[in-house]
Amino acid sequence: MAQEPSTDQWISNNPTETFDLGNRVGQHLIGGEILLLTGPLGAGKTIFVKGITSALGIDPEEVTSPSFTLVNPYEGRLLLYHIDLYRLDEGASAAHAVDLDELLANESAVIVIEWAERLGGYPLPSNVWRIAISGDGEDPRKITLEFMKDEGGRMKAEG
Ligand code: ADP
Ligand code: MG
Repeated sequence: MAQEPSTDQWISNNPTETFDLGNRVGQHLIGGEILLLTGPLGAGKTIFVKGITSALGIDPEEVTSPSFTLVNPYEGRLLLYHIDLYRLDEGASAAHAVDLDELLANESAVIVIEWAERLGGYPLPSNVWRIAISGDGEDPRKITLEFMKDEGGRMKAEG
């Protein structure tokens, strides 16, 4: 079925709203999605990921920034790999450092990547959702989600 890009945009006024948006996005996941999170330090990427995991039945309190381990796996309604590339240099080496190809081989898992900027132009499968968060401190956050939707207007993952 033909697909076209779709963009959603929200304003989040506090951490709870960011968490709830992550939860709403998480409810649409069926496995095989790659979620690329971009935005500066303190934007709210990890809080958004906690919202996603809560939608998969994973306790958000278990979700910590995987800065030191690089990849944290969580088993809920779906297997989710949480990756944080903050400490890595940009380019293919970042993808290799987390064995991204190995993770992508599991086509039913969900992969969530913080600091996805660091991937550079690393080739990815088509089912990519791009989530950009801007703003910091106590300012409201602007959160955009881009994904491919099919002709029925549904998220690709539902089609
Ligand atoms: P990142 O993973 O992007 O570095 P975190 O999710 O770890 O960011 O932290 C975001 C910080 O910003 C938290 O301390 C949170 O309390 C604060 N914050 C303030 N307003 C918001 C908001 N609207 N959404 C998300 N976080 C917010
Ligand atoms: Mg983080």
